[in-house]
Amino acid sequence: MSWLLPDLILDADGVRRDQAVNVEGGLITAVVPASDAPADALRLTNTALAPGFVNAHSHAFQRDLRGVVERIDPANPDDDFWTWREEMYAQAGSMDPAKINDVARRCYRQMRASGATCVGEFHYVHHQPDGTPYDRPNALAEAVCEAAEAEGLRIVMLLVAYERGGKDIPPTPGQRRFCDPTVEAYLARLEAMRVWAEDRPLVTVGSAPHSMRAVSPEWLTAISTYTRAHGMPLHIHADEQPREIRESLEWYGLRPVQVIDAAGALDHRTVIVHGTHCDDAELDLLAERQAGVCVCPTTEANLGDGYAPVKRMFERGISISLGSDSNTILDPIVEARELEAMARRTAGQRNVLVRAGDSGPAGALLEASWDAGARALGLPLPRIAEGAPADLIALDLSNDEIAGVADEHLAAAIMLAGSCQLVTRTWVAGA
Ligand SMILES: [Zn+2]
Repeated sequence: MSWLLPDLILDADGVRRDQAVNVEGGLITAVVPASDAPADALRLTNTALAPGFVNAHSHAFQRDLRGVVERIDPANPDDDFWTWREEMYAQAGSMDPAKINDVARRCYRQMRASGATCVGEFHYVHHQPDGTPYDRPNALAEAVCEAAEAEGLRIVMLLVAYERGGKDIPPTPGQRRFCDPTVEAYLARLEAMRVWAEDRPLVTVGSAPHSMRAVSPEWLTAISTYTRAHGMPLHIHADEQPREIRESLEWYGLRPVQVIDAAGALDHRTVIVHGTHCDDAELDLLAERQAGVCVCPTTEANLGDGYAPVKRMFERGISISLGSDSNTILDPIVEARELEAMARRTAGQRNVLVRAGDSGPAGALLEASWDAGARALGLPLPRIAEGAPADLIALDLSNDEIAGVADEHLAAAIMLAGSCQLVTRTWVAGA
């Protein structure tokens, strides 16, 4: 590719003016004073160049539930997460390789346009509707990865393990296509997925035992062992809904995060998705094991999950990444801002998520959008520096959302007052 000459650079090291960036072979190969750039450098007028945002949790096919689920079913007037889940199962039931590729392409196209350069896709629709594997056992997961490649989005395929409906509860008909008969069968698919992705520069793979509801401790242990041996991330939903915690206590006498830990599956590669109802003991355990959480604020609002205890997570130094989850809303800046908004609403304070040495929450929100996301997905930290992946976004400094803001307030204005409207261009691996 070539030289880029923006007005300024914004990354985890702050705002820098008069710098030029060279991109070659998908990587940033040089950052030099603008005066040293060649005459044919691409001048990016009124532009801040920044690393792209990391979206650590998505279910691409759920994109097509937007609008559809926003009405009361007269048969189920008390609509909640569990009635929504039935609608989602019906949607999952209608997928085939072509359909899931189509919805994923539409979802990822907007995701990229909104400034996300990488997605962690928590993918659980695997088999034919009756549970029979396709001729290619990962046909649907491959179709989703191909959608990301076609739209130019980096993807970490978090291949889901799904065993059962609950402890001693077989899968419902709607869950059959998520399930593998044994953990060995699941691990064989995970291995096949890993090998398939080896020569695909935009695709890597991680494991994703769905939840302690859907996976037994025995499966969790086996999956964690494989995951560690291959240096992969391990993502698992936990503590999204109070019912899950009641079931966990009833089945195991432990809360969900404690069940995951007791199975040996909680360490620095583990990401707890949601953590909405984590209690202090669970948060202490997450901090002690250096596990991360992925909060998905706009989806958690949509589903009536509750407020994640972000202030208590933050105070413990837990790495907090962000996900668009059901993909009803695709705006990484809005998603990040909701972290601080939840903390303010629940604490009755302003400027809550403020790191030592920072003057306000913008640094913590950018860290959630960049470094915590990259750590969650096992990717290099997003930087505008030599050797970093050229996963970049252009932000329009002339947009009225941020026009006229001084450099020292720019990050705060983007994160606390801006939106994905600011993103005018996205590059993934330099393209
Ligand atoms: Zn999810």
